Amino acid sequence: MSIEAGVVAVQGDVSEHAAAVRRAARSHGEDATVTEIRTAGHVQDCDLLLLPGGESTAISRHLQREGIAAEIRAHVDAGKPVLATCAGLIVASADANDDRVTELDIVDVTIQRNAFGRQKDSFEAPLEVDGLDDPFPAVFIRAPVIDGVGDAEVLAEWDGRPVAVRDGPVVGTSFHPELTDDCRIHDLAFFESAVAP
Ligand code: GLN
Repeated sequence: MSIEAGVVAVQGDVSEHAAAVRRAARSHGEDATVTEIRTAGHVQDCDLLLLPGGESTAISRHLQREGIAAEIRAHVDAGKPVLATCAGLIVASADANDDRVTELDIVDVTIQRNAFGRQKDSFEAPLEVDGLDDPFPAVFIRAPVIDGVGDAEVLAEWDGRPVAVRDGPVVGTSFHPELTDDCRIHDLAFFESAVAP
């Protein structure tokens, strides 16, 4: 039986996330079937979810308008895993400090959007991540800063600031783990904690 993975496909690196989750599944001898989620009625069929980056205001508006936001919250309430990256983490947070974003409140952190700088300030950093033996090549693109951590575990910091967190079944990163061939963050989010298909 294959694992059903849902990628929220409003914006962002949908195919890259799909490829990374397939690779991570394969390394565990599993197959992942990927569904792109644009409308309500599909999240409940998914064992795991990916919330890609993009523009958090647009993603949040779409999730609310389509009724997908409530489905994602129910998915997390059922203990099923989510990986939320960059703008996905902003939307997943408890407080994005921006009235245009309606937060999902599935990761107990507060966020400052674009606090790592504008597009020209994008960078790649070798990141020490809890649970990984070697540094992860983390790509930061107009990345948010996690400026407050509530009931969540910090998995990685850059420049003294948290950039990867885990809150129960949800892993959130300020950076883009889908942009390299390294699928260890997807692995950590979905398979180290054992997905039950
Ligand atoms: N700057 C974007 C935002 O605040 C996030 C950027 C990204 O996902 N790479 O929504």
